[in-house]
Amino acid sequence: MARSFSLVVTLLLTALALFIGSSRPASAVTDPIYTLPFFAQYMKTCGFGCYSGHLGTDYQLGDPSVGGEWVVAAADGTVFLTGYVKGPGQAGHYMEIDHSNGRQTRYLHLQSAPAVAFGPGVSRGQLLGYEGNSGSPWCQDPPACNDWQSPYHLHFETKINGTAVDPYPPANQLWSTDPPSYAEGESVGVTSWASNRLDVFVRGNNGQLYHKWWNGSQWNPVGSWEGGHGGCLLGGPAAVSRMANRIDVFVRWCDSTLYKRSWDGTQWLPWQPIPGSCLKSEPAVASWSSTRLDLFVRGCYDALHWNYSNNGGVSWAGWQPDLGGCLNAAPGAATWGGNHLAVFVRRCEDNTLHRNFYFGGPWSGFVGLGGCLGSGPGADSWAVNRLDVFIRGCSDFMWHNYSSNGGTTFSGFIEATGCITSGAGVTSRMYNFLDIFAAAVEETGICGRSPGPEALGRPGWTSVLGHDGCLLTDA
Ligand SMILES: [Zn+2]
Repeated sequence: MARSFSLVVTLLLTALALFIGSSRPASAVTDPIYTLPFFAQYMKTCGFGCYSGHLGTDYQLGDPSVGGEWVVAAADGTVFLTGYVKGPGQAGHYMEIDHSNGRQTRYLHLQSAPAVAFGPGVSRGQLLGYEGNSGSPWCQDPPACNDWQSPYHLHFETKINGTAVDPYPPANQLWSTDPPSYAEGESVGVTSWASNRLDVFVRGNNGQLYHKWWNGSQWNPVGSWEGGHGGCLLGGPAAVSRMANRIDVFVRWCDSTLYKRSWDGTQWLPWQPIPGSCLKSEPAVASWSSTRLDLFVRGCYDALHWNYSNNGGVSWAGWQPDLGGCLNAAPGAATWGGNHLAVFVRRCEDNTLHRNFYFGGPWSGFVGLGGCLGSGPGADSWAVNRLDVFIRGCSDFMWHNYSSNGGTTFSGFIEATGCITSGAGVTSRMYNFLDIFAAAVEETGICGRSPGPEALGRPGWTSVLGHDGCLLTDA
């Protein structure tokens, strides 16, 4: 079949979910548990025991001559120690996270004091601080120590019951995948309201919303992002267009409730809360008419929750009875017309893809589509009965799965491209056309395979952000 994809990648980051009084217990910690504590391209410069007394693994992130890459939590946990120790060979700004089951991780030489608060509630992939060189200088060639340096790097340490261990030997079972993968990257919100129009939304590293749009010939604003949206975002946004020149953006707010901000054709309206929501990951949104909005979230007890509006978001039907399931990532949603909804989730139990359909009657219930997901799925439709789903696989390659018969059967997973660190944001701006946005592992040069207009060393993939591995600069 003829498929023409315009694959577009942005260099971005991680994650989120939802709510109401379901009594499902939180899922237990599963082992093995860790993902890489950063999103950048890296070089392992000194492993566990590379010199006597070295109890962690050193990683140079991104450009080795500068610091500032994001350092993120290797798993969910509780911050129980932060501090600053000055001097040669010392930890500098550091922090420690307890992951229960006797597991702890340490993050050393951060640029400055950690960006997270002391206490529970840290999520895998959450920003902890920035790669730095604090605690420097230290010895690079022990025991002689003629070479005192202070390169930017992250020293990452893993402990079991208080004893530092090497995370790499498979017997220690500390990485969630082999080779270790990146945490779920922060998703990109993307939508389209015309055949030559794309609107992309991300969370900046100041926690606020940023916007960039394609007008058919270039990305605007040229060389930067539209700020001024404010907000307090946990994770990436979701966006949808109900009709020409209308955009609705949904985000998980810092208090884990859902907020909306809308473009009404002439201006951005103020942020509005969606009542009754409690999210544990990012939301998903779909629209099948100029007045209809369907929202899906991973609730605070991990089940899938659904809410909708028939008046363009002026009022909401309320959160519908728990659709059940157990999600461990943000859902993906798509529609190809009135009363046709498809929602895709990563299932808690085994990280496989599951789908649930609504055709105006009761929901179909969850049906497995296999795979192994490293992030939540992204989905859209470009024709009646057509569904396209993109996932990040457990080894960070992107995979595609589609249906051309309204979800009756699926193609099975087809490898689509390489090395992304987030779920894929997908939108269709016309028949037989898809644009995909994802966070890329920085400058690896192996993302993508389809021919594209601006390859930038990654066939088929275009850097929207220009550079930087992390989201954006502050406004
Ligand atoms: Zn080290």
